[in-house]
Amino acid sequence: MSTRRPLIAGNWKMNGSLAFVDEFARRIADLGLPDDVTVVVFPPVAYVGSMVRALQGCAIQVGAQNGHGKVSGAFTGEIAPEMIRDLGAQWLLVGHSERREYCGETDSLVAEKFAGAVRADLNPILCVGETLAQRNADQAESVVRSQVRAVASRVGLDVFAKGTVAYEPIWAIGTGQTAMPEQAQAMHAVIRAEIATLDTQMAEQMRVLYGGSMNAENAEMLLRERDIDGGLVGGASLQADGFSSVVAAASAIGAAAKKDDE
Ligand code: PEP
Repeated sequence: MSTRRPLIAGNWKMNGSLAFVDEFARRIADLGLPDDVTVVVFPPVAYVGSMVRALQGCAIQVGAQNGHGKVSGAFTGEIAPEMIRDLGAQWLLVGHSERREYCGETDSLVAEKFAGAVRADLNPILCVGETLAQRNADQAESVVRSQVRAVASRVGLDVFAKGTVAYEPIWAIGTGQTAMPEQAQAMHAVIRAEIATLDTQMAEQMRVLYGGSMNAENAEMLLRERDIDGGLVGGASLQADGFSSVVAAASAIGAAAKKDDE
């Protein structure tokens, strides 16, 4: 891990309930969290407002898993990022592979959502990653490079600089088969190099998270890698104890990286 402030994000996907929101918030507050890690939870949008209220007084921030790119209009069933912001959220996931796959989200739609998030003063996390077939065909690097470039070139560098990237190999999401730390590090370095072709300072500052079956057992070895600045945790974020262990690992490794830097 570098000296960039670590970020651990929990994506609940379509899981949880009102009762679970309260239970999770109580448990995580009891456990206590280090103050040197940014922690964000992404419940289903129906619970974003309740989650914000339940976490009042706790440093955890809240985000939504999806939002529309536009401010308003005839888009039945959609939610504008401004409305998500009204709920008290501060973050938005864009381009998650499940949305790219099941909802047909293209790079250009993802870019529109990314720009919408920044317009609404939400922090976007852009998810990128290759399928197993693409990895086996030696296309992993070109796929993630092009996913990053597609969004950066559409939204412009000033807007892109406000985001975070999450590298999420699709073959590792929800499979229990996490990437090997060196595999993940190599891809994170590729992403950072791609950002550096746009702006070297931005590449140095932008956090690149790893996502794909990260949990309390494997977080430490992944977070030790130089270009891995945190994690996007899916399934394992549904247990407050396990999630807080991932946060604790990020804190310990971040503190050690800072010491090494001194
Ligand atoms: C995710 O949903 O972004 C994710 C990484 O899921 P999981 O941790 O369950 O693989």
